[in-house]
Amino acid sequence: MIIDFRSDTVTKPSKPMLEAMMQAKVGDDVFGEDATVNELESFAATMFGMEASLYCASGTMTNQIAIKAHTQPGDEIICDVLSHIYQYEGGGIAFNSGCSVKLISGNRGRITALQVEESINNFQDVHKPISKLVSLENTANRGGGSCYDFKEIKNIQQVCTNNQLSFHLDGARLFNAIIAKNETAEQYGKTFDTISICLSKGLGAPVGSILLGNKTIIQKARRIRKVFGGGMRQAGIIAAAGLYALQNNIDRLAQDHHHAQLIYQTLQQKDFIGEILPVETNIIIFEVKGKYTAQQMVELLKEKNILAIAISSSHIRFVIHLDITESMVQKTIDVLQKL
Ligand SMILES: *Cc1c(COP(=O)(O)O)cnc(C)c1O
Repeated sequence: MIIDFRSDTVTKPSKPMLEAMMQAKVGDDVFGEDATVNELESFAATMFGMEASLYCASGTMTNQIAIKAHTQPGDEIICDVLSHIYQYEGGGIAFNSGCSVKLISGNRGRITALQVEESINNFQDVHKPISKLVSLENTANRGGGSCYDFKEIKNIQQVCTNNQLSFHLDGARLFNAIIAKNETAEQYGKTFDTISICLSKGLGAPVGSILLGNKTIIQKARRIRKVFGGGMRQAGIIAAAGLYALQNNIDRLAQDHHHAQLIYQTLQQKDFIGEILPVETNIIIFEVKGKYTAQQMVELLKEKNILAIAISSSHIRFVIHLDITESMVQKTIDVLQKL
């Protein structure tokens, strides 16, 4: 038995999910004829109370398409320094959209309305790039799965409205935040111009992300997706897994959060564990000190068939997901207690 905490992307499709894929009605999605993709896109849009959505190959693609759709080359994007769009998308902001970035040092990946306001360039000053887009991440991956206070999101929305900035959400793990904070998809749909959600993280689908927005921006996004090489044909085969995930795997995220708490409590008791970021959802980021380096601890765990990633020389990340069972959590706790 391998217990894989490296990422919530390692999940494999369950039997009923595979069954849904086998039954999927398909067609050529570039012609708009794939019934399952169409159903997934309208299901997601309805869920968020938004006009339209677009099924894409990855969360990097949905984010990058959104950035391209909102900007012109030379514009500037405002985001936290730890943002996935900046740190983990291969420099795509520059490569795909020719934009620069104003980085904010937030609190565990979360920025404030005041910080956004202070980061906006004076439009009259020809020296400065034009501030065009604010992008938030919820939950914030490098913040240890931290969740925004929705009131602050509303404050940032107001700053965007006042300054004619577009407002994008990288919601790769948005459902983790919605479950943890008892929120709804609709409240996010009312707030952002575009939202990216991942089906292949905590929701357990093998592939896929969705970009949500109004009809105009999604039409533009569909064109950009084609240019980026992301037009897929009988994509209903994989979209069926995404639809299954949205219909069945959201409420169960609470279980992952509970498992994260149990492991967190064990880590707190160990003297070679230093700072642990507050565990709000399914991610645990902790410091290793004293008798082990982070890499040594990763190797010791690996000997016990427990996989994790050292995200720096001193920190390890555990991500809980739907293929982590209660007995795996128990075994992990036993192993940690003996280290
Ligand atoms: C995983 C992730 C993405 C998208 O990643 P892909 O692997 O391209 O699907 C985007 N944002 C965040 C915060 C993520 O964790």
